Amino acid sequence: MYILILGAPGSGKGTQGNILAERLGLPKITTGDLIRTAMQDGTPFGVEAKKYYDDGKLVPDSVILSLIKDQLARPEAKQGAILDGFPRTAAQAELVDKTLAERGQRLNHILLLDVTEDELVRRMADRGRTDDTPAAIANRQNIYQRDTAPLIAHYTQRGIVHRVPGTGTVDQISEDIKRIIGR
Ligand code: AMP
Repeated sequence: MYILILGAPGSGKGTQGNILAERLGLPKITTGDLIRTAMQDGTPFGVEAKKYYDDGKLVPDSVILSLIKDQLARPEAKQGAILDGFPRTAAQAELVDKTLAERGQRLNHILLLDVTEDELVRRMADRGRTDDTPAAIANRQNIYQRDTAPLIAHYTQRGIVHRVPGTGTVDQISEDIKRIIGR
């Protein structure tokens, strides 16, 4: 089963993704974590990504599509995975859809974590990542609305989008998700 956790930066994708991955025994693929590790390690990909990351801009598809492809091809992700932080653009969604379709698979559920903008900004101010400066946060929110939110319409047509109120406690939200997924 492939589940995509979608939501604006700060909506709690990482937290809920970890809980879900553990419960279902599926790997979680988190592009943001992969990028942060590559930046720390100073790999060529990490050096390239940093040019965009710190400003809160998306790493271009030309740089990130092959990473997504490699991650989906890993043996442990062959039967399912929790996708956290991607697809984030139309080109990434196309790659994910196509890669899974070639294996007779598909995205089964999209969980859309719904949190108000004020709450998002408050949560991110508490984290202290290098891309959590006010300017980068504003950029990331705008880019989410511009590039990522349109994917919701694309997947809604397939009837797989579930809205999850993201304002309760961590436990309440994970119970909601359990009910939606059915396990
Ligand atoms: P996140 O940890 O998901 O909030 O992502 C943090 C930053 O990593 C983003 O602002 C982008 O710079 C970069 N990033 C993470 N995932 C992607 C992706 N799928 N496509 C492009 N950039 C990404």
